[in-house]
This record gives sequence, C-alpha cells and structure tokens, in this order.
Amino acid sequence: MNMNPKDKIKIPAQIMPTLDPGFRKRTFDEVPVGYGEDSAILEAWRCLNCKNPPCVKDCPVNIDIPQVMKLTAERRFVEALQVIRRDNSLPAVCGRVCPQESQCQKNCTMGKVNSPVSIGNIERFLADNFSSELPQPKVDSSTGRKIAIAGSGPGGLACAYQSALYGHKVTVFEALHEPGGVLAYGIPAFRLPRKIVAEEIKILKRYGVEFRMNTIIGKTISVEDILNDFDALYIGTGAGVPYFPEIPGEDLPGVYSANEYLTRANLMHAGKLWSKTPISVGKTTVVIGGGNVAMDAARVALRLGSERVVIAYRRLEADMPVRREELLHAREEGIETMFLVSPTEIIEGYSGRVSSIVFRKMRAEEDPVGGRSKIFETDETLTMDCEVVIFATGTSPNPTLTSNCKGLELNKKGCIVVTPETCATSIPRVYAGGDAVSGASTVILAMANGKTAANAINKMLNDRQKNS
Ligand SMILES: Cc1cc2nc3c(=O)[nH]c(=O)nc-3n(C[C@H](O)[C@H](O)[C@H](O)COP(=O)(O)OP(=O)(O)OC[C@H]3O[C@@H](n4cnc5c(N)ncnc54)[C@H](O)[C@@H]3O)c2cc1C
Repeated sequence: MNMNPKDKIKIPAQIMPTLDPGFRKRTFDEVPVGYGEDSAILEAWRCLNCKNPPCVKDCPVNIDIPQVMKLTAERRFVEALQVIRRDNSLPAVCGRVCPQESQCQKNCTMGKVNSPVSIGNIERFLADNFSSELPQPKVDSSTGRKIAIAGSGPGGLACAYQSALYGHKVTVFEALHEPGGVLAYGIPAFRLPRKIVAEEIKILKRYGVEFRMNTIIGKTISVEDILNDFDALYIGTGAGVPYFPEIPGEDLPGVYSANEYLTRANLMHAGKLWSKTPISVGKTTVVIGGGNVAMDAARVALRLGSERVVIAYRRLEADMPVRREELLHAREEGIETMFLVSPTEIIEGYSGRVSSIVFRKMRAEEDPVGGRSKIFETDETLTMDCEVVIFATGTSPNPTLTSNCKGLELNKKGCIVVTPETCATSIPRVYAGGDAVSGASTVILAMANGKTAANAINKMLNDRQKNS
C-alpha cells in the first residue's frame, strides 16, 4: 500500500458490472454481478489509508476499513474478511444492502477528488468468495444458560450468533414460516439472493441455535412463559406494521401495503403459476413513497408482469431517502418517477377494483442549507389510470408482543425504550433492539443492537452467577 497518493488518485474507480436491464427486469436474478479478483484489488488500492479514517467513524459498527483495504490490496483476502467478521457477522448481506453512500463511503477522502472507494463492493467480494475458508470462531464451552430471541431479522440473528459463541443455548422464535425477517420477506432476491440468508441460518444451526417458526411471542407463547423457561429474552420483532394515508378507496381490491405485496411475492411465491397466494398484477402499478421499500415494491411489480410502473413521491427527487444506486437500477429497467404529487383518493372501477388514483399536486421550496425541501399543497389535481396501488409510506413496530408485556416501557410511537449501551428494557432480563426500538432503520444498526444485547446479556448472566 506504499503507493504515492497522487498515483492512487489516477487508478480508475472499478465499476460494478450489472445484468442487462432488458433481461433482468423480468427475472429475480441478482442485478449487480460482483467484483472479480482484479477489480477488488484495484479498488482496494485506491484507499488512501487516512490517519483518522472517516470511513471507520461513519461505519455504524466501526469496522477497521483501512486494514481491510490494505489486506485486500495485498491479496490477503481471508485475513481481510476476518477483520470484517470481528465487527459484522453478516458481511455478504451488508456488502449488498448497507447504504454505504450515506455511511462508510460518505466522507471517504478519495471521494473528494474522485469516486469514493467502493467499500461495500469489496466487502461483498470478500464474503462471497472467502467465507468458506475462514477458520471457525472459538465457541466457549456450554454454560447451560438459555436465551430466547423473538424475531429472526438481522438483529435477532446477530444476537443469536454472539450468544451461541458465548456457549449459551439459543432459541429463536419467529412468527413467519421462514427465518430472516426483512432479509427474507422484504428485500427481493434481485438485491439479496435467498441462498445468502439461508447460508447464514445454516451456520447458526451448526452452532446449536434452534429456530421455532410460526410462533408469535405475545400470542402463541407469553413473555411470562418465556421468562420462566429462559434466562433472558431479546426482542427483535422489527417494525412491520404499515401506515396508510387514510384516503377514500384505500381498502379497494388492488391496493396493498408494500410489506404485504413484498411478503406475498418473496415468501409466498405469489406470481408463480403453482402458488396458492394470489397477487394482483396491474397493467399499470402506482407505488407511493420514495425509499428503498418503494423501489423494491416497484421493481417486483415490474418483474411480476406489470407493463407500466410509476413511483409517485410527494417531495423532490433530491429528498428521496432511497439509495441512489437502486433508483438508477429502477430507472434503467424502465420504472417511471413522478414528483410533487400526494394521493388524495383511489377510484373504484366497474369491476369493484381500483381503476385510477387522484393526486394533489404539491409545490416545493428547496432548503437553502441543503435539508429536505418544504412542500405545500396546490389547488391542482391529477388523475392516473391504474389497476394496482402500493403504499410504501412507512411502518411502525408490531404491537402484538409489546401490548402483551406488562411493565415494558414504550415511547409515543410504540417503540421499545432501552438503555442504549446495553439494549436493556424496563423489564429485568429482557433486552431489545433493531426496528422495534428505533422504528424503521437499517440492517447494520439492527445487527449492532443484537450484538450489544448479546454482550450485555452475557455480562448480566456472569454477574448473577458470581453474586449467587
Ligand atoms: C422492503 C425493505 C427494503 C429494505 N432495504 C434495506 C436496505 O437496502 N438496506 C438496509 O440497511 N435496510 C433496509 N431495510 C430496513 C431493514 O431491513 C430493517 O431495518 C432491518 O431488517 C431491521 O431488522 P430487525 O432485526 O430489527 O427486524 P426485522 O428484519 O423486521 O425482523 C423482525 C422479525 O420478527 C418477526 N416477529 C414480529 N413480531 C414477532 C413476534 N411477536 N414473535 C415472533 N416473531 C415476531 C417478524 O416476522 C420478522 O421476521 C429495508 C426494509 C424493507 C421492508
């Protein structure tokens, strides 16, 4: 890595190859095809190895990224992956779905003169190609302690992994029939192939983690029963309850929440001829929202056969919370975008189903200091014919567990209140993290919470043993 920084700047940024848009828009095959060895090494060479690396500070789990880049540039791939795995147990997932442009790559020094180093693409390359060569992590001898985990999303999986390494017996309870949380039911396979999540679950099972599917904590089993049977509980039940704007016509057949639409397509195989789960495929599908969830729903609608898919957002393009890469990919596939429109009514056709949607046009004033623009209603409306409307306008935590758990402190939005350093809740031996605590957030933050909670649970159990 002892190259002159001026020479490093001259190395061209390595572009991630993608499947042809015309082909991929009708398949669920993964869109970016991944770096080869040469591209990964060249990209890693671009790292300037800063003294106070902004990438480490901006990474929610503070991975030693310069060290990963150095080892990758030196072809020491397994060691590079080991450095990542110290802080992140799901690198193949995070390399694909982390919003790197607003995290580790945001303030990359190389980005001031050229494109930032593609840290996520290198992480994915290492995880995809060298995970099987990693030495097995050390597992402590069995403690005889039992940990229950509610929810098998990235937070629950991270807590399970770390707790299993401490030698505890871990049982994950999941409401759905497949584990993975949003990684399984939400994010489509063209962004996160199913085999990656399946592989992570397999590894956990190898460490003795048990998965009990179709089990809703707070309904199938009470929190009280869990605490009688287990030494600690981690709640990672996510934020899967969708918001609807409460406008006329939103209960018509053909209107979905993005979560329902994606769950039907991703987990219930809706759209396949043999599936027993129906899904409406509109000639025109309108998706309301501006985030990753809206983009995923739109791209799934296209793949299920919709001829025209339009994303309608009430603000400006610059305000969209979506990852820019996903927006670019969606547009390459032919998805249209419409800005400064807010839905006011969904109109019923003769068939009793959706026939069109009415929007109020909005007006925006850009924020002079670069924040989100301010928007105002105008008197103008716009009507668009469509057969399917999908709302991706936000979600909140599922109350099934929390409303059946006496003494659990919640905030006004229904999120669980925790001590951030430990993820401890108001109930002894009960911990929580991820979207159930923060509201809809990111995979990496949920994982960071899961690991924090596992460490705190382990310490609590050790302290109890010492004091008994
Ligand atoms: C479509 C979509 C796309 C996204 N894209 C990205 C992205 O690109 N990058 C990114 O970083 N983040 C993305 N996110 C956000 C990210 O997926 C979440 O922040 C993350 O998954 C939260 O993890 P979690 O472990 O808290 O919960 P979740 O992943 O939500 O998992 C919670 C699990 O708990 C289960 N559960 C709920 N209640 C109970 C109960 N009472 N008992 C038992 N089980 C229960 C649920 O069935 C679910 O499986 C996306 C979200 C969605 C919906």
